[in-house]
Amino acid sequence: AEEFGIKQALKDLGLNEVNNGTSTGENWFSNGEIIESYSPVDGELIGKVKSTTKEDYEKVITAAEKGFKEWRTWPAPQRGEIVRQFNDELRRLKEPLGKLVSYEMGKSYQEGLGEVQEMIDICDFAVGLSRQLHGLTMHSERPGHRMYEQYHPLGVVGIISAFNFPVAVWSWNTALAWVCGDACIWKGSEKTPLTSVACQNIAARVFSENKVPEGISALITGDYKVGEMMTKDERVPLISATGSIRMGKIVAQAVAARLGKSLLELGGNNAIIVTPDANIKNTVIGAVFGAVGTCGQRCTSTRRLIIHEDVYDEVKDAIVNAYKQIRIGNPLDENNHVGPLIDKDAVKNYQAALDKVVEEGGKILVEGGVLEGEGYESGCYVKPAIAEAKNSFEIVQHETFAPVLYIMKYSGDVSNALELQNGVRQGLSSAIMTNNLREAERFLSAEGSDCGIANVNIGTSGAEIGGAFGGEKETGGGRESGSDAWKVYMRRQTNTINYTTELPLAQGIKFDL
Ligand code: NAD
Repeated sequence: AEEFGIKQALKDLGLNEVNNGTSTGENWFSNGEIIESYSPVDGELIGKVKSTTKEDYEKVITAAEKGFKEWRTWPAPQRGEIVRQFNDELRRLKEPLGKLVSYEMGKSYQEGLGEVQEMIDICDFAVGLSRQLHGLTMHSERPGHRMYEQYHPLGVVGIISAFNFPVAVWSWNTALAWVCGDACIWKGSEKTPLTSVACQNIAARVFSENKVPEGISALITGDYKVGEMMTKDERVPLISATGSIRMGKIVAQAVAARLGKSLLELGGNNAIIVTPDANIKNTVIGAVFGAVGTCGQRCTSTRRLIIHEDVYDEVKDAIVNAYKQIRIGNPLDENNHVGPLIDKDAVKNYQAALDKVVEEGGKILVEGGVLEGEGYESGCYVKPAIAEAKNSFEIVQHETFAPVLYIMKYSGDVSNALELQNGVRQGLSSAIMTNNLREAERFLSAEGSDCGIANVNIGTSGAEIGGAFGGEKETGGGRESGSDAWKVYMRRQTNTINYTTELPLAQGIKFDL
């Protein structure tokens, strides 16, 4: 780690050997168990974070509720100015934060920097948005009446995030929620606790310099039990949860039981359809990056390739060949394409998926396996694998959160490919590679892809912050980031004003006294 400057990065981000994992802003404390964070890159202990107890959580929620009462009265553009300053700090600390993301999570340094860039982009978006929290004005049916709608701050927003985007997902939520006037309490992944502390350090510093009330950016740390404190708490009107479908089903029920709102960003099972008209070179780049980038641990990773029989062998051979070029190793070394999986449990799941696809009758085209020896001491490095499989296999129907790509054939019309693509329970990202306008438009039509993201001639992986991000079906239906995703962080109010001396009723109802 030292040759890549990790120690300096930790110092730049204000991290110690043992850190408090609970913060209401300036105030850091924690009375829970210690979580040790080991790097999947080299198996070394990076640092420790003390988790949040029930009593600690009470302090946080009390501060957030109190802070919100003041924060909601700040004009939105002034809140935007705070996000702008926070963004300046992100720009300044992009390298150390990107490095820590890479070292604690295992994605490549380039992707770590890319993740911080996403934070910067969403903050830029949020600053502009702070002057555009528009509602509509309607024409009243009653004479001398005016009707309009406005958006008010919602309250305390609980953010639960996954290990694979340990910093960006927090900012997708907070940057918008802050300009919307909300207080945010974040429970990051217990697998990446140091990146959470690093982010909260940055926010806490900027907020306190600007006298933002305590509690507007708060952090709690720990596993699902700490998350449950928020999901069951009626003082938290909105829970934004990113992670597995299994988690989403539990969180959704807990929040619904108290009639709270939830924004769910859950697993995907993303496919690329490769038609006879596809540009093969671009298909190979898109599919390979989609399948092996972040070691297959993106919610938008490419899991399935649905290839037309006319180009099946050509595409298959090109991709199998491309896999031979992949360099697996320390993700901080920019010569490598693929880093480790997050931990040994993930390695077990990867191996189980490969066993299962064979058991169900699949054929391995590129062998997987766990790497051993120098540079692979953490035990988390695996070989990206490819299997020929049927869409109906149980293993193909589930999200395998590892670099395992399932490929399958379709024949005839693109509607046959669409049937396979849509024939899973998840609905996050999808793509078609084609130069045929009819096929592209069909894919984008009402009878086309049923996913929240549908791309033409780019892969499934990754997204820009300007569009609303999220997916349908078991992916949870939530939308974050661009477009009008901000509306979920506010409460909508319809206002009707009568400026006459009469009181006419709607629908022409007569009520004379
Ligand atoms: P996970 O579900 O194991 O954990 C995610 C978060 O939920 C963690 O912070 C965890 O502590 C918390 N959690 C788990 N159970 C909980 C409960 N009962 N109550 C409250 N909190 C609970 O997921 P993971 O392994 O960290 O991440 C991988 C998954 O996340 C994949 O399925 C991936 O597709 C998905 N993901 C989705 C998106 C998206 O935007 N759709 C983005 C990133 C990751």
